[in-house]
Amino acid sequence: MSERKYWNEEIETLPRKKLEEVQIEQLRDTIAFAYENSVHYRRSFDEAGVGTGDLTSLADLAKFPFVDKKTERETQGVGSFLGEMCAVPESDVVFVSASSGSTGTPTLSPFTKNDFEEWQDVESRLFYMTGMRNTDRYLHALNFTLFVGGPDVIGAQNIGALCIWSGTVPSERLLFIIREFKPTVIWTTPSYAWYLGETAKKSGLDPANGLSIKKIIVAGEPGGSIKATREAIEKLWNADLYDFFGISDIFGACAGMCEAKDGLHLAEDHILAETVDPRTGEVLPDGAHGELALTTLRKRARPMIRFRTGDIGCVNREKCSCGRTHARVSIVGRKDDMFIVSGVNVFPSDVEYVIRGLEGITGEYLIRVSKKDFTAQYAVEVEKERNSSETDERLAERVSAALKARIGVKPAQVTVLEDGALPRATHKAKRLIDERNS
Ligand SMILES: [Zn+2]
Repeated sequence: MSERKYWNEEIETLPRKKLEEVQIEQLRDTIAFAYENSVHYRRSFDEAGVGTGDLTSLADLAKFPFVDKKTERETQGVGSFLGEMCAVPESDVVFVSASSGSTGTPTLSPFTKNDFEEWQDVESRLFYMTGMRNTDRYLHALNFTLFVGGPDVIGAQNIGALCIWSGTVPSERLLFIIREFKPTVIWTTPSYAWYLGETAKKSGLDPANGLSIKKIIVAGEPGGSIKATREAIEKLWNADLYDFFGISDIFGACAGMCEAKDGLHLAEDHILAETVDPRTGEVLPDGAHGELALTTLRKRARPMIRFRTGDIGCVNREKCSCGRTHARVSIVGRKDDMFIVSGVNVFPSDVEYVIRGLEGITGEYLIRVSKKDFTAQYAVEVEKERNSSETDERLAERVSAALKARIGVKPAQVTVLEDGALPRATHKAKRLIDERNS
């Protein structure tokens, strides 16, 4: 018997029109359920004067108010432990994850038993999309402490892969686990995949030949979708890299790459995506860059209706060459990391795209955004490869010209440092320093 190509062929390849019929039906159900059961949604829909009667098409969702992290923080703990956005009694909740926001107050993400099972089925779908099968050994190197990515390992187990629950451990320990257990698939962040490969090399191991990893799943940073970064990590490990996109307020991973590697398929039977203007909230057409607003279509514990994710990207609803019909999202960065130079929106991922693609530098970089005469400017620090014979001036000119060509505005300065001068990131890399208010 030939192996099946999709985890759930019927759902994943549902013709667009049918998929949208399913979505509108589930959206009506979610809106009605939220109105009936959540203090917050009842209040905000009443204030906006909207209800299920206003929903005749998916576009009508735009009539409904947004929620964001602030809504979560303001309603959490109000009236009950899980607060006003929650739509089920606590006795129906079996799991909460928590994310620490900028204020330090963790926001809780609750799941009913059914929410949890459906979430893990989505994770199985995304893992299966990367080619993971029951013959794989899967190393789950994500944090288990309150983090929504922790339980995603169950999705891999449900495929039948042999799962190794390592969590986040020091890199020497993780390399020991890789040598002993010989996993074929690992999930981590792009920064850490790079760091771990470099650490392996330093300890005399060759990640490209001596280790067992065939596939690397990454999430948490845009790197996996930046071609040059992806290819650099793939080369370092001689492995195939797949990017995932998760939102702690919804699922550990909501979208994942297929073999076409042209955007990440969103589980559209569970989550509806809109792109909105980050300033005005106005809905933008497919293909335009804006802030992603996501709406859950099945979650009961805490439905998320028009959740402003803070992630900037675009949505493509064209059918993919892999046969899947679900929309593909491409994320370029966090709204908070975007800076504007001479009227141009710049993301750290734009700079990374250039830096990772140039010869003669290590690929590590640091961006400093500052203000001069009331306008923003950016400077970039790069590292010259150890054996390079190019002068620093020539290299700086080359980097500057490449940045200008990609972004449209030149950096105010390019500083060339020696190999190893910049700090190596372990998990989430901090490569942007904003000096505008200092
Ligand atoms: Zn595809």
